[in-house]
Amino acid sequence: MASQPPPPAPIVNPDIKYTQIFINNEWVNSASGKTFPTINPTNGKKICDVQEGDKADVDKAVAAAKAAIQHGSPWRSMDASQRGRLLNKLADLIERDHVYLASLETLDNGKPYRESFNVDVNAAMVTLRYYAGWTDKVTGKTIPIDGTFFCYTRHEPVGVCGQIIPWNFPLNMMSWKIAPALACGNTVVVKPAEQTPLTALYLASLAKEAGFPPGVLNVVPGYGPTAGAAITNHQDVRKVAFTGSTEVGKLIMEGAAKSNLKRVTLELGGKSPLVVFKDANLDMAVEFAHMALFYNMGQVCTAGSRTFVQEDIYDEFVKKATARAKAKTVGDPFDVTIESGPQVNEEQFDKILGMIESGKQEGAKLECGGARLGNEGYFIQPTVFSNVTDNMRIAKEEIFGPVQQIIKFKDMEEVIARANDTPYGLAAACFTENLDTALTFTSRVEAGTVWVNFYHFVSPAAPFGGFKMSGVGREMGEYGLSQYSEVKNVIIKTQTKL
Ligand code: NAP
Ligand code: MG
Repeated sequence: MASQPPPPAPIVNPDIKYTQIFINNEWVNSASGKTFPTINPTNGKKICDVQEGDKADVDKAVAAAKAAIQHGSPWRSMDASQRGRLLNKLADLIERDHVYLASLETLDNGKPYRESFNVDVNAAMVTLRYYAGWTDKVTGKTIPIDGTFFCYTRHEPVGVCGQIIPWNFPLNMMSWKIAPALACGNTVVVKPAEQTPLTALYLASLAKEAGFPPGVLNVVPGYGPTAGAAITNHQDVRKVAFTGSTEVGKLIMEGAAKSNLKRVTLELGGKSPLVVFKDANLDMAVEFAHMALFYNMGQVCTAGSRTFVQEDIYDEFVKKATARAKAKTVGDPFDVTIESGPQVNEEQFDKILGMIESGKQEGAKLECGGARLGNEGYFIQPTVFSNVTDNMRIAKEEIFGPVQQIIKFKDMEEVIARANDTPYGLAAACFTENLDTALTFTSRVEAGTVWVNFYHFVSPAAPFGGFKMSGVGREMGEYGLSQYSEVKNVIIKTQTKL
């Protein structure tokens, strides 16, 4: 990520244009009259108050989304290619407002503006454009059966889709959700994370400007247990897509089962192994292992949070990884020269410091960091632990912060067993120059994405999701589309033999 070109100058104090609930292409206040503050993690101060949606507002948004997908509605009867034009137009408007959106994301989330610009906003554009190309290619089949029947399938939209978004990649995750849903002709009710609602609201304004009909895209900011649960439990929501913690993922599945058995896709947590074999290019492995963990202040579901290093090179690796972490620049996320900003909020900040304490108490060796940085905002020193063993909490639980665990291993068989000894299975990586080693690892490790000599590369064209408790279903690519269509089989009796 360090090799990216510097982006154009940010807008350090972006105007906040939208703080209301977006339903039926209109901005409205919450039915309850309540608002909630969104906080700037760089200084812990309030940016603005946002309308707090709950069940009553979700009901209105779902009613609008349901009306927008009725047969005969402009959206339902639109030429499929026109849906692609709308998605492309939305991407073009994001591109027009690239600097503003990246600045807003940095203000609300604290991630470095350089990353907001080069990664987050860019990824939202490419995802929308990728799925724009699919809209008129979601086709069924004709199926040869008994000659007195004509049999074919239609891929129809599922209906109203509820989409619950996390705070770590707010705009990007919203694009992952809405792009395939809209490409397949569904309508959506989005709940952004309470910590980072601002870019989702701005995106809603762009969807209106792009020309999406009223009710197709609705955004209800609010809290998980109220607005999120109302989406999950709603009888008229046909599918819910969620990214966030495994704990809440279970609640979503339970709510879906207890209400109307709505379709569920889940992208959840991870404790992903990154394995460095002794024949790896050591400097490259150190750099990628660093990026795998510290990218986005460690707030990535796929973070390489168990760094396994073969015993022959362990000490040298720890030395180099520690030097790399110590050299990391942390500070004002609007400064394009820094690599890291603050954690998203006080709750995450406290949780990470608690996990660091547990590492110290359980006997891991603190190589660097281990404490708060500065005395304003939610900054944490880049932290490296060596001599980490598999039974320690820092080796088992998701930390979601800038804390690297370096663990020693002997051989392939042992490291595969240990890498897979986790309830998670989101991502994995190995570093080696040997093809057999790479192929053995990639075939045996239990993970939805496996990188070799790389980390954190995702593409809208390639599937993303988890094995085991890291998720259900896949997002992105053609695989992601299948989660947003119902297949209808039509069998027509004919008078003649065909
Ligand atoms: P979270 O609670 O799982 O939040 C994700 C989304 O789910 C937010 O929009 C949240 O709303 C909503 N939500 C919360 N409770 C809900 C409920 N009962 N029903 C429906 N929706 C609900 O995640 P978090 O509390 O922000 O972070 C906690 C941990 O989750 C992190 O430390 C990390 O381990 C993990 N996490 C993982 C990812 C990922 O990409 N896989 C992303 C974020 C967090 P609110 O805005 O009110 O919370
Ligand atoms: Mg915020």
